[in-house]
Amino acid sequence: MRAESVARRLLSFRRLSVGKLRFEADDHGGEALVIEVKPRGKARCSRCGRKCPGYDRLKTRRWRHLDFGAHQVYLEAALARVECDRCGVVVEQVSWAEPDSRFTLHFEEMVGWLAQRCDKTAISTLLRIAWRSVGTILERVVARHRAEIDWTQVTAIAVDELSFRKGQHYLTLVSDLQSGRILWSREGRSAATLEAFFSEIGAEACARIRHAAIDMLSCGTLTGLGRSPTMERSRSCRLAPDDLAAQDSAAQVIESEAAHPHASSWRRGHRGRTLHPFPVV
Ligand SMILES: [Zn+2]
Repeated sequence: MRAESVARRLLSFRRLSVGKLRFEADDHGGEALVIEVKPRGKARCSRCGRKCPGYDRLKTRRWRHLDFGAHQVYLEAALARVECDRCGVVVEQVSWAEPDSRFTLHFEEMVGWLAQRCDKTAISTLLRIAWRSVGTILERVVARHRAEIDWTQVTAIAVDELSFRKGQHYLTLVSDLQSGRILWSREGRSAATLEAFFSEIGAEACARIRHAAIDMLSCGTLTGLGRSPTMERSRSCRLAPDDLAAQDSAAQVIESEAAHPHASSWRRGHRGRTLHPFPVV
């Protein structure tokens, strides 16, 4: 079997043609595998997915894919821009990545999986990517899966934070406490960050949330939780950054944790700044 055929089967993305393969020196003293690819079929708008006429062609760009052994793997393509009646002139759609990403979907899904089991340092070191890239990838992963979330089933949430850039920046993660699935993420860890979550899910979904496990030291007054009538009593919960006792109380599961099998194990894990071993996103 030809190397191009092997590569196409391994990549397993739809509507993708594989060209030449080559090795290049990478930034870590090794060799990276570069696979030339291009989208197959008529060009589509990357925003709405409709078939569109071509407009022009962009310079070659790369997407980081899952490593092959010790070798980093990159897909390389010169994409076209298309002229969409609805969206204007935009880059064409590809099956292996989102329009603004420099990583393939498979790579991003792995980051999402690891984020539920490792801290950001481990992810950044293992995958050899920048701190900031972990955060932006997680935001895209969560956004992709949010469309599949049945908010009528979300009644208990866990709110946690991941630090990055040597602790100067934080990413807030909201998970379904029962299924363990990550529901939402956003850079920051303030009350405003959490408020944004409640604003986005809407009043109906807020009203169904009856329990919350919080592990955010500088969240301040949890004004966002006040959006849910059934969580009114949690409003006065104030988190003191330098008060360990307050940290414990902040991590408590408001109202009854007994009804939620993941709650106690999540509490055991929260001090280590690692998330409870939740299922895959
Ligand atoms: Zn469009």
